Amino acid sequence: MSTQVTISKKAIRKIAAAIAAVNNSREVGGLFMGYRHSSKYRIVDATVPDCEKCSGVASFVLDGAEETAKAEALAGRYTNTPEIIGVWHSHIWGDAVFSLQDEESNRRLAQILGNCLSALALPEKQSNLRKLMIWEIVPAGEAKICRAACETENIP
Ligand SMILES: [Zn+2]
Repeated sequence: MSTQVTISKKAIRKIAAAIAAVNNSREVGGLFMGYRHSSKYRIVDATVPDCEKCSGVASFVLDGAEETAKAEALAGRYTNTPEIIGVWHSHIWGDAVFSLQDEESNRRLAQILGNCLSALALPEKQSNLRKLMIWEIVPAGEAKICRAACETENIP
């Protein structure tokens, strides 16, 4: 059975805005918040970087403590508290494959969370989000591409 993912428009908009805010000049990323039921995931929200902290660093690395604090703040706004179910980051050159560093951090995350999601946001030359590719990561590190759909309404 293939893994199914739905993602809210709100989460997509936030990711697109985060890429546009840095003009796609560096990699950005954050966490996916939502719900997981066996092989179905529902992403309702996403954390995004604080732009004032944006430096010239090209490679994206999550700051665990800072991102967890942001995730908790977001979760508090929902009646049915969403959990951290994965990560996303952009690839400024549009490469649709994980780097070795990405694979290592995916595996580490799946060892903490159990099965989870990892997504690559692929921009166009300028700053627009062109495509979001989502994989499910298992604790052994294997990545399986998911079927994903965008929710037109955000149902908290
Ligand atoms: Zn990467």
